[in-house]
Amino acid sequence: MKRIAVARPPLPPLPLEGGCHCGRARYRVSARPMAVNACHCRDCQRLSGGPVAVYLHVAKAGFEVTAGQLDLFRRTGGSGNQISIYRCRHCGARLWHGPDVAPGLVILCAGTLDAPGWAIPTSHIFIDEAAPDSVAADDALVVEGFNTTRAALWDHFRAIYGPG
Ligand SMILES: [Zn+2]
Ligand SMILES: [Zn+2]
Repeated sequence: MKRIAVARPPLPPLPLEGGCHCGRARYRVSARPMAVNACHCRDCQRLSGGPVAVYLHVAKAGFEVTAGQLDLFRRTGGSGNQISIYRCRHCGARLWHGPDVAPGLVILCAGTLDAPGWAIPTSHIFIDEAAPDSVAADDALVVEGFNTTRAALWDHFRAIYGPG
């Protein structure tokens, strides 16, 4: 994967706010994100309709839905684990995933943030399935498949942004 130099903006002040396409479903993030992870797997390509999906890892304790109604879809992830996918009931926009194996974690679709411009991936996974023109920031962790752990993604985020 090609590397490019990027000047990362600082992490924005908390809370972070975001929501769906129609504006009815809204959420708030009051805990510091733990990763900005780009997933290039085929499942995320199908779910997002694009070549890559970017997610914030957020502690569930620091995440709340502030408006709207959600629909829950149960799917089997590439790892074989069950995940819950939450969408706005009104417009269908995908907002976040909850993996059964990590019940304390929200995998939040970064593009649904009101101000997503700072969220440059700190890690890229499944790059073996990435589009040929994909690029990664020169300081990002880049791994084939998911040949790492979530903790390694979080460690890399802290290495970039500081311990917090
Ligand atoms: Zn909506
Ligand atoms: Zn994926």
